[in-house]
Formats: sequence, structure tokens, C-alpha cells
Amino acid sequence: MKLSRRDFLKLLGISTATLGVGATMAPPLMSPRRSAIPVGPRHSKGVLIDTTKCVGCKSCQIACKQANGLPDDRPVALSATTLTIVDFCNISRKADTPEIRPVKRQCMHCEDPACVSACPVGALVKQENGCVTYDENVCIGCRYCMIACPFGIPKYNWDSANPKINKCAQNCTANKKRDKPACVSACPQQALIYGDRDELLKLAHARIRENPTKYVNHVYGEKEVGGTTMLYIAGTSFEALGFRVDLPEISLPQLTWEAQTKVPWAFFGMMGLLSGIAWWTHRHEHDKTKDE
Ligand code: SF4
Ligand code: SF4
Ligand code: SF4
Repeated sequence: MKLSRRDFLKLLGISTATLGVGATMAPPLMSPRRSAIPVGPRHSKGVLIDTTKCVGCKSCQIACKQANGLPDDRPVALSATTLTIVDFCNISRKADTPEIRPVKRQCMHCEDPACVSACPVGALVKQENGCVTYDENVCIGCRYCMIACPFGIPKYNWDSANPKINKCAQNCTANKKRDKPACVSACPQQALIYGDRDELLKLAHARIRENPTKYVNHVYGEKEVGGTTMLYIAGTSFEALGFRVDLPEISLPQLTWEAQTKVPWAFFGMMGLLSGIAWWTHRHEHDKTKDE
């Protein structure tokens, strides 16, 4: 995706404005951890979520809590103690006849994650297997990852005396030597399939091709923000299921990097990178406010 002149100028304006503030506010350790340099090919693992098979039993949500030692607090949204949630979306356009579709949500484990680029201390790391891990012992609680994430995933632990963020890091697989994430193992409907991302994409497209009336022709996560390792297929529009459909196909760190290379003297360091990402992440909110 190319930057339009209008987008580029907006990005430039916001970043230049924040640079002055950022330069004085930035802690000494703040430097781009992993600049938005093009990502090489990975052998990412991932999960294909077939929302047409999901029955909303919440077994995945409960298994995630158990595997991560988190309290079963009857959650209604993602939080620092709920790393995966089953949402119930009403896709009906008629107020008197609701049509409910359950959708599991969690970190998308992006291929080129904005949270990793924004984190000044390297608490978030993109692993070779595709997982975006999180180390609370390194985290300083600055919340830049929350600003940068286009999916609103990292959540702050407001109740803690030493608050940090939390998100799905598939620690339940890595730490417990499971062969797949706990949520996948718990699903009784095979709505969640763990495997190589490339193979999952082939499977997703095959299902769509063979059942064109059952699925919409879109694998969510194949291209959004440069690709994610959590992939979704669905029988109704992703917008109706509450997914962001305004995201660019280029990753946000890469997008900011492109702008940075056009005006190197104006875009440097963490604040340029972060403000560029933050503008892309939140611009739909500004557009929505303008429309209302
Ligand atoms: S969804 Fe957000 S928190 Fe998860 S890897 Fe992508 S940018 Fe990071
Ligand atoms: S709050 Fe987020 S960005 Fe800040 S140190 Fe922790 S993981 Fe990194
Ligand atoms: S365990 Fe499977 S069927 Fe049950 S809510 Fe989770 S994804 Fe849906």
C-alpha cells in the first residue's frame, strides 16, 4: 500500500508536533528497540479460527484462564486477567430478531507487531515461531504498546500496586511444553486449528472455495497490518462481527518506516515511530467523531 499525499502530510504533521514534546519527555532508555525494517520470512505457527463452527461454549476462555493461573472472574471483555474472551455479536439489522454469533478474541500475534516496535525496553518480542511473547519482569508499565496496538489488545492491570500490561503470549504453550495452545486443545468443535500459518491459509482458502455460500471470501489476518498469525474465516461480514476493516495491508511499523525514509530529518527515534503508529491506530476514532 502506498501512502497518499494527504495521509503522508497528516502523519508528518502529527509526528513533527510530538517530536518536540517527546524529545523532552523521553526517558534515557527510550530508543527504537526494533525499527520498522522489513521483516524477513518466518516459519510462523498460527491458529485458524472458523467462526462458523463456534458454538460459544467458552471452553477456550476457561482453559486459557486455567493454563495461565488467572482467576475465573466471569469476564465480559479482555483485561489484564482475561487474555482470551468469547464475544457474542448481534449481526441482525432488525431490533426484534437478534442473530447472535460468538467470536473468540485475543492477541492477533501480528507478523510485524506495532507493540514490539513501540516497546522501549524489549518486553514484547516477536518469536521465530510467530508468537509475540511478553515478559512482565522487563515491562516498565509505560503503556506505549496499548497506544500502538491496532486491535486494542494489551490491557493494563489498574488494580496492581506495580501496574503492568498483560496479553495472550501463548505462554501456556511455551512454558508448559504443550504441543498447541490451551484454548485450541479445549475447543470441542474444532473451531480452532493450530499449525503452520502457510498451511492454515491454504486450508482457509480451500474451505471458502468449496463452500462459497457458507463463507465470505475473506481470510481476516491474511493481509491486515502486514498479516497476523491468528486467522479468521466467517459466514458474515467481519465488520458485523466487530472486526476493524479499515486497517492497511502494510504493517504499521513498516508504514511509519516508509514515511521516515521520505523525511529522515523529521522522523527519527521512538517518538516519530510511536506517533506515526498511534495516528494510524486511532484515526478511525477521529473519523467516527467527525461523522457524528
Ligand atoms: S494484536 Fe496488538 S498486542 Fe497482539 S501482536 Fe499485534 S500489535 Fe501486538
Ligand atoms: S507497558 Fe508495553 S510498551 Fe511499556 S514496557 Fe510494558 S510491554 Fe513495553
Ligand atoms: S471452545 Fe471453540 S466452540 Fe467453544 S467458544 Fe471457544 S472457539 Fe467457540
